[in-house]
Amino acid sequence: MSTLEPCIEYRGDRLAVDGVPLERIAKDVGTPAYVYSAEEIQQRFAALDAAFSFRDHLICYAMKANPSLSICRLLAKLGAGADVVSGGEFRRAVEAGIDPRKVVFSGVGKTDDEIAYALRKRALALNVESQEELDAVARVAGRLGVTARFTVRLNPNVDAGTHRHITTGRHDNKFGIDFRGALELYGRAQKDRRVKAVGIQSHIGSQITQVKPYREALSVILTLAERLARRGQKLEYIDMGGGIGITYRDEVPMPLETLAKEVRSQLSVWPGLKLLLEPGRFLTADSGVLITRVLYRKRTESTRFVIVDAAMNDLLRPALYEAYHPIVPVRRTRSAAVPVDVVGPVCETSDCFAKARPMPWPSQGDLWAVLKAGAYGFSMASTYNSRPRPPEVLVSGGSYRVIRARETFEDLVRHER
Ligand SMILES: *Cc1c(COP(=O)(O)O)cnc(C)c1O
Repeated sequence: MSTLEPCIEYRGDRLAVDGVPLERIAKDVGTPAYVYSAEEIQQRFAALDAAFSFRDHLICYAMKANPSLSICRLLAKLGAGADVVSGGEFRRAVEAGIDPRKVVFSGVGKTDDEIAYALRKRALALNVESQEELDAVARVAGRLGVTARFTVRLNPNVDAGTHRHITTGRHDNKFGIDFRGALELYGRAQKDRRVKAVGIQSHIGSQITQVKPYREALSVILTLAERLARRGQKLEYIDMGGGIGITYRDEVPMPLETLAKEVRSQLSVWPGLKLLLEPGRFLTADSGVLITRVLYRKRTESTRFVIVDAAMNDLLRPALYEAYHPIVPVRRTRSAAVPVDVVGPVCETSDCFAKARPMPWPSQGDLWAVLKAGAYGFSMASTYNSRPRPPEVLVSGGSYRVIRARETFEDLVRHER
């Protein structure tokens, strides 16, 4: 079981998160349920913070990975800022106690209302993704009588070498602005007192495991910074975006030290420039498990199916990206592994967590844990098939609490007339 994290391990035959047996949590809150390790998140943050300590930096947690207020609060206490992609996320960040002046606002489609909210809260920056967006930002700032701090999200046209659905740094993506367009935008901003360029941002994709795409993107960012400096536009920081990959199966992500070393060497000629990072997955993915119960077993001529009580509405990644998540029994058994399809109750063929996965043939009622579900898990959950969303539980210091209750039928119909 090399896929397990230090915070999620077997105690005897029982799988435990930070020492708390998942069987006990399942008994108390039912299944399916998300369980997170606070310790794991804290350790990830500390590791990243240490790796980049050579430079004045800010870690802006990409909240869309897991916007739970409790998790954001935990990261706020460690000094994190936030990268948000909607007005709702921005409000969550504020609610969780993240200093709005440490919040950067990304996304290709910000509305006037969202822009106004960010400006009133004195966001660290709006990461602007088109010329028309900068016009809107200037207009709203003018109306409010404030100066809007912004960065251009630069599309450096590099291939992050990741899944086609999660790569964002190439010219055929909707994200960002190319080098020439960015130069032009910064030029316009120089003559407009309603906006102030404070940095350059670039986020090239997700689940990146190589240094190369970061190296290439950084070099384009710094080339742009140099062009801007030559015409007298001095920046406060550069923002490398997020995307740091983790191991779901057999990926071997670059060590943080390797990434940090690359950044350090490229930044060595830029002593005054601060550094921003926007990690999401890296901070929370490994901290979370989705516990689920085996409902039924069913054999066809070709396939053994294990039908569990969690489904694609609870954890979408396998259906959406054909993503791999390790699945392990909550109580270790000696029964031999056989290839099974692990499927949920939703009426879609894509509602499948694993295909032909070797798993110990379970008994009805057994508990299984879907690992590495702490990022883009609950945050992508829906109520499809009128399934209430599962509860979220945070384990911290040897005890646990429900940080979000299981939804009820009443929750599902609340807004209907
Ligand atoms: C999604 C996103 C991130 C975080 O990506 P991860 O792969 O989870 O680290 C960071 N910045 C922006 C702009 C994003 O859209």
